Amino acid sequence: VSFSQLDLQPQLMARLSDINYLKPTPIQIKAIPEVLSGKDLLAGAQTGTGKTAAFALPIISRLLEVGELTIAEQPDDVNANNATITAIETNAPKALVLAPTRELAVQVQQAFEQFTLNLDVNGHSLKTVVVYGGVSSDKQKQQLAGGVDIVVATPGRLLDLNRQRLVDLRKVQTLVLDEADRMLDMGFRDEIIEVLKRLPKQRQTLLFSATLDDRIHKFSRRLVQSPKVVEV
Ligand code: AMP
Repeated sequence: VSFSQLDLQPQLMARLSDINYLKPTPIQIKAIPEVLSGKDLLAGAQTGTGKTAAFALPIISRLLEVGELTIAEQPDDVNANNATITAIETNAPKALVLAPTRELAVQVQQAFEQFTLNLDVNGHSLKTVVVYGGVSSDKQKQQLAGGVDIVVATPGRLLDLNRQRLVDLRKVQTLVLDEADRMLDMGFRDEIIEVLKRLPKQRQTLLFSATLDDRIHKFSRRLVQSPKVVEV
């Protein structure tokens, strides 16, 4: 199987060959078609299997397809009303990835940036912002205000920023839980459920976990509907 058989957008295919992604890994072969179809997914895959690209590539491809993106704030404040509308819309990501740690969140954001570099949607690029706790939120706030398509976050900081209305979660079309087993181990269960309440009911949910044991299956019932299950 090659990437060309997976129905990704041509711009993204070109980018993959630039960064030497020549062949999809097994989890990518299994997960990418399901994510592109819009289905919910339960995926069992360890770090090192290519799990990040397994969710990032189809999410990016769908954003390219829709061609409907947030517009970065205009440098010239042509019209005050217009500027206000833009500012409200820009902090509403279309995709949200929850991760257990700052380190993983940063890695995932860097992967999205690598895949989306120089991609163009109606004259705009896709922007991914990472937010995590334990540091000042000033820079994160500034980045969100500049417009965002994809947010990668640890749950607590995301809720903080959402309560302050600095990130709008009502436009999220795809939610990813990365390393869901570790998030449960670290006690993020209630915070994840709180995030869920703030997302649209109609959305796609992808749950990635190193293992798909009873605990994950049970927790997943709150999150996914008739999911496809893939494992490597
Ligand atoms: P992950 O399991 O997402 O942490 O990915 C492990 C490593 O494999 C990362 O450095 C990726 O950049 C790399 N990788 C993932 N998929 C591919 C692929 N299809 N071709 C080449 N490298 C890949």
